[in-house]
Amino acid sequence: MENQKWGFKKNNEVNAAAAIGMRNILETIMRNIDETRTGKAMIHLGHGDPSVYSCFRTSNIVELSLVESIQSANFNCYAPNDGVDPARRAIAEFLSRDLPYKLKTDDIFVTVGAEHGIHVLLQVLASPGANILLPRPNYPTYESRAKLSQLEVRHFDLLPEKGWEVDLDRVKKLADNKTVAIVLINPGNPCGNVYTFEHLKKIAETARQLGIMIISDEVYAHQVFGEKPFVPMGVFGDIVPVVTIGSLSKRWIVPGWRFGWIAITDRNGLLQKTKIVDSIKNCLVMTGEPPTVIQGAVPRIMKDTPDSFFLNINKLLKEAVDMVYEKLKEIQGVDCPHKPEGSMFVMVKLNLSSFVDVVDDTDFCMKLAKEESMILLPGSAVGLKNFVRMSFAAEKKILFCGIGRIKHFCLRHAKH
Ligand SMILES: *Cc1c(COP(=O)(O)O)cnc(C)c1O
Repeated sequence: MENQKWGFKKNNEVNAAAAIGMRNILETIMRNIDETRTGKAMIHLGHGDPSVYSCFRTSNIVELSLVESIQSANFNCYAPNDGVDPARRAIAEFLSRDLPYKLKTDDIFVTVGAEHGIHVLLQVLASPGANILLPRPNYPTYESRAKLSQLEVRHFDLLPEKGWEVDLDRVKKLADNKTVAIVLINPGNPCGNVYTFEHLKKIAETARQLGIMIISDEVYAHQVFGEKPFVPMGVFGDIVPVVTIGSLSKRWIVPGWRFGWIAITDRNGLLQKTKIVDSIKNCLVMTGEPPTVIQGAVPRIMKDTPDSFFLNINKLLKEAVDMVYEKLKEIQGVDCPHKPEGSMFVMVKLNLSSFVDVVDDTDFCMKLAKEESMILLPGSAVGLKNFVRMSFAAEKKILFCGIGRIKHFCLRHAKH
């Protein structure tokens, strides 16, 4: 056995790409948690999964839809390649409510969560030499998938002093004839911002000028609780080809169900003509589909989830963010440049000069975990150093307690 040579070895690119993701960083921070030593139960506001709190339970219509789908025995089969037709039609109708035109069944592809949609779109666009424009800060899956697909990444900044709007001058300078797309997340993760109709229109016009398509990640569609209404980028699908990514995970609070979609919101059919749509189909066939029973439940979920369910979730998020924003203001050493108006995250800036022994955002999060049994996500995990990202989709008493821990931590490490 000693002299035996084995031919297998790992592909290092996979590990390098995964290292950019959130999971690795959160696991490292988690290792610092010792609830017995601190005497404090862990508070995890480092990622966004409100489904663990009873006040964020999904609608019973959603639960019933799945039970009915299972009991019908119609959905135990393999799904057709492009997905179950009534599910796609229901999504097309649901999204068309917000658009000045009607989407067709064929404009919708079902995915294993939005995550799968991101992987497929970036893989499809990763032709040799191509580059893509990504926001900074960003949702890390875009970064890791681009790396794995050897798609060159160019970053434009989101501007905190302008409510995290896109730095469009920078976008114009970054793009060249190898640029394929620009990615937007609206409502924003990690910034909790919501873009106005006017800003979205400017982005669309810029993308048209540059001859690139838009990938609009709208997994937090309508999860807004500030002054600004949610406007889907597909509204500008006559100016520029837009592909919209959506999901049940965040709005319906069932992230474990792994169901999302890609919508072709491209009025002039340019993505058809350039065969991008065909490539998306082919890539989906190779990478798998969501369980048929979930697809069977989707028509009823889309048609029957009562507005009161969504309104209540937005109300809970608004109350949470109002409290969190006010309480953070009272803490020396941290600063919140823009109050969130959507999604479930807030970016908090660390003023490192006010601490004696906090080196950077990762150090802050590691020490906070160790001393307070509390988890936040270092901003460097989403591309913005010396910020931390905090989820506010939690029960109010948990948030209240969590903010108290941040306050104690900051006081203990403050320069006097
Ligand atoms: C959570 C999230 C996703 C992934 O959603 P799933 O449907 O659970 O895969 C994609 N994009 C953004 C911006 C997210 O916050």
